[in-house]
Amino acid sequence: MTNILITGSAGFIGFNLTKDLLSKKGYKIIGIDNFNDYYDVNLKKRRNKILKKFKNYKFFKIDINNDKKILKIFKRYKPNAIFNLAAETHVDRSIDGPESFIKSNILGVFKLLQAFRKFVERNKNSLLIHISTDEVYGDVLTGRSKEEDAYKPSSPYAASKASSDHLVYSYIRTFKIPAIITNCSNNYGPRQHPEKLIPKLIYNILNNKNLPIYGKGKNSREWIYVDDHCEALIKIFKKGKIGNFYNIGSNINVNNINLMKKLLKIIKTTYMIGDNVKIKFVSDRPGHDLRYAINSNKLKTKLNWKPKINLAFGLKKTFEWYYENQKYFLSLNKRDIVNRLGKKR
Ligand code: NAD
Repeated sequence: MTNILITGSAGFIGFNLTKDLLSKKGYKIIGIDNFNDYYDVNLKKRRNKILKKFKNYKFFKIDINNDKKILKIFKRYKPNAIFNLAAETHVDRSIDGPESFIKSNILGVFKLLQAFRKFVERNKNSLLIHISTDEVYGDVLTGRSKEEDAYKPSSPYAASKASSDHLVYSYIRTFKIPAIITNCSNNYGPRQHPEKLIPKLIYNILNNKNLPIYGKGKNSREWIYVDDHCEALIKIFKKGKIGNFYNIGSNINVNNINLMKKLLKIIKTTYMIGDNVKIKFVSDRPGHDLRYAINSNKLKTKLNWKPKINLAFGLKKTFEWYYENQKYFLSLNKRDIVNRLGKKR
């Protein structure tokens, strides 16, 4: 049996990675999440309820800042790998209140590293995979960021993630901990919080509301279906090289306005809804990067990985899930879906 510890297991990607591994043979998953008590607790509890149905899943409600409890769990379960997905993740919230991002994404990672460092003194075969984002590279107006490119984060969220990557790398270099850092592009798929762009658009289309778009809608992102990200992480666990960074992406960019048009077209032609929905330009996010784009050739050539799901198919699959599970939105606080966040200057 391979024991895997996943922090942030009740989050969007953590949930999908946990479910993915539990559906394969031979994995026991130890999930950790603090449920982030100030919003969307219900959503996390519902995801966790689904995971708890698997007999090979064990869950602990713990904050990664609690290094004593984390070390105890490390010693008890002796995980072969730890995927760190625990983080505050919404850029707009990091503009309205950066402190919780510093606590979880920087101090939390520091505490996790301290516990891991102690644990690997006697458990040399364990591996820490720290999950990060393409946003650490900052605005990339041309070309695609490579693993060796400098970080230039623009939002408190991206800066907190960049700091955590630097901390992990410093522990690799200084304390020789076995760790890998991954930087992925924008994820989408079922059960994502509608504070994020794609489920928010779907919510609005289903509710016949206009589609808010920041600035001029020219901001360009590289989208990856969440299952592809999870498969890449599993590949990195099996074949990745300690001390390395791996970019994970689809290599395909689309700007927000074209993304909306693509989604609307799929929905209108397949479901005959959304005819009255219009695009509405709203004031831009402060510090909004125009473009993120990563080069994930290293993952492709060295580990033989490439994404399986193209954007049109992924959007269709994603919409289908939200369409068939509209009760999902009712479990969330409406305020957290519709209120505009992150306008502060
Ligand atoms: P999410 O917000 O859905 O999930 C994060 C989870 O971490 C939540 O369940 C939250 O309760 C938990 N958490 C937060 N602080 C914690 C703490 N101190 N202790 C324990 N648990 C804590 O986010 P996500 O989209 O699933 O992202 C997961 C990771 O992947 C993050 O590190 C994020 O930076 C990274 N990432 C996300 C994307 C994306 O597009 N969603 C892209 C690239 C990288």
